[in-house]
Amino acid sequence: MADRVDIAIIGTGPAGVSAALTAKIRNKTLMLIGRKHLSDKVRKSHQIQNYPGFPDISGEDLAKALSDHLEKMGIEITEEQVTAVYAMGDHFAIQCAKEMYEARTVIIATGVMQGRVLPGEEENLGRGVSYCATCDAALYKGKEAVVVGYSPREEQEAEFLAEVADKVTYVPVYKEETGFEASNIEVVHGVPKEIRRDGNKSVLVLDGSEIVSDGIFVLRDSVSPGQLVPGLETEGAHIKTERDMSTGIAGLFAAGDITGTPYQDAKSVGEGNVAALSAVNYLAKK
Ligand SMILES: Cc1cc2nc3c(=O)[nH]c(=O)nc-3n(C[C@H](O)[C@H](O)[C@H](O)COP(=O)(O)OP(=O)(O)OC[C@H]3O[C@@H](n4cnc5c(N)ncnc54)[C@H](O)[C@@H]3O)c2cc1C
Repeated sequence: MADRVDIAIIGTGPAGVSAALTAKIRNKTLMLIGRKHLSDKVRKSHQIQNYPGFPDISGEDLAKALSDHLEKMGIEITEEQVTAVYAMGDHFAIQCAKEMYEARTVIIATGVMQGRVLPGEEENLGRGVSYCATCDAALYKGKEAVVVGYSPREEQEAEFLAEVADKVTYVPVYKEETGFEASNIEVVHGVPKEIRRDGNKSVLVLDGSEIVSDGIFVLRDSVSPGQLVPGLETEGAHIKTERDMSTGIAGLFAAGDITGTPYQDAKSVGEGNVAALSAVNYLAKK
C-alpha cells in the first residue's frame, strides 16, 4: 500500500485541481485521484464567458491550462476510479478499482452524478449489481453479464469483462456509435428503467424489453455520494457542507458541483480552494 498522505482529493475537475494546487502550496503531502483527461464537463464546454481572466476560453483550452498548472507544480494524477471512502477514526481508507490508499483528510470533488440512480440499483448493489468491472470481472467467469455504459469510455470496461465472461450485453446510454472488437459483446439499445433480482438472476428492465443475466454493471463517470462514503449526510444528489466545505464526517470535505447548484467553474475552483485550506487547518489542529 502507498504511504498515507495528508490530503487525498477525489476528482480532477476544476474543484479537485484547485484543491490540489492549494494543498501543494501549503506543503501538504497529497494525492489527486481521477482522470488525466481531467473533466468531461470542462472539455464539453464550448465557450466559457464567465471565468475571470480568460474571456471566451474554450473548455479544451481551460482543461489544458489546468493540466499545465498541475504539471508546473509537480502534481501527478493517480488514474483510478474511487469506489468507496471509509472513515477509520484517525484516517480514511480509499478503495479504488486497482488499489487501496490512505489519507488523513479527504476532499470529495467528484462533480454531480450523471443520470439518475435506477430503481433497484442501490438495493441490489453487491447482489448482482456492480459499479466496477475491473474489481468484479473475475466473478463472471463463464457467466453472462450486462453493462449499462453512460459514456463511450465504458466500452473498454465491457471489453475487459468480455475476456472473462461468456457473454456481455452492452446497453449504451449515449448518442455516440459503439465499436467493439470482442465477438461475445452484443449491443442492445433501450432506456434503462429498473433493476430487479429474480432468484439468482438479475433483470435489467428497458423500455419495452428485459435482459436477464448473472449480473449488471452500471458504469458512470461517478457514483452517488451516499454510495461513495457510507454515513455521509446528503441532500438529494449533493453532499451537505458548511461554509468551510466541511461535511458531517470529521476530516472529510467536499467542493464543486457535488455540493450543490449553481454548477459553475468559478464556484468549483473557489470551493476547492476553501476545502483545501480547511483541510490544512484541520490537520494543524490535530
Ligand atoms: C456543456 C457545458 C457547458 C458549461 N459551461 C459553463 C460555463 O460557461 N461556465 C461555467 O462556469 N460552468 C460551465 N459548465 C459547468 C462546469 O463545467 C462545472 O460546474 C464544473 O466542471 C464542475 O467542476 P467540478 O470539479 O465540481 O466537477 P467536474 O468537472 O464534473 O469534475 C469531476 C471529476 O471527478 C471525476 N470523478 C467522479 N467520480 C469519481 C470517482 N469515484 N473516482 C475518481 N474520479 C471521479 C470525474 O471523472 C470528473 O473528472 C458547463 C458544463 C457543461 C456540461
